Amino acid sequence: MNKLRLATVWLGGCSGCHMSFLDLDEWLFELAHRVDLVYSPLADVKEYPDRVDVALVEGAVANEDNLHLIRQVRERTRLVIAFGDCAVTGNVTALRNVLGDPETLLHTIYVERADTAGQMPLAPGIVPRLLDRVYPVHKVVPVDVYLPGCPPPAQRIRALLEQILAGGDIHLTGREMIRFG
Ligand code: SF4
Repeated sequence: MNKLRLATVWLGGCSGCHMSFLDLDEWLFELAHRVDLVYSPLADVKEYPDRVDVALVEGAVANEDNLHLIRQVRERTRLVIAFGDCAVTGNVTALRNVLGDPETLLHTIYVERADTAGQMPLAPGIVPRLLDRVYPVHKVVPVDVYLPGCPPPAQRIRALLEQILAGGDIHLTGREMIRFG
């Protein structure tokens, strides 16, 4: 039987949601028998693969790299889960939205308030450009399932994954229903 192809994605977030995922401890061994982890910051995979079944997406969309990746994720994934409050609402990552445009903000922090030799942290191709605003994932691409919490408790992550692995019906937000298994 083909294993479920699982991805975990890290956008603009603190990685606390991934830490909560790791808090599943020994259940992760069981999970490892039942899924192929095809993309994750926990695995050194550079390119988001095709034909992903489920993606847990941590973090908001804050910069151009996040934007490119989340569009790929949506194109190549059956079930996209907004994983944690930053993905669901913007949360901590979106706090900068009230401080104005990112160019002015970066200039204030890195140039005007630098103790010595202030310079902008802009290096094309090295540091991704910030978007004008931070967006929750559903503002950029359709999201199928929301898993709120900062971070979502490990047992709630497990409950959702067990439902998917059991072949439970997943009712999507305004889209078709998916059945796994
Ligand atoms: Fe971190 Fe909370 Fe955001 Fe998760 S939801 S990335 S734990 S700040």
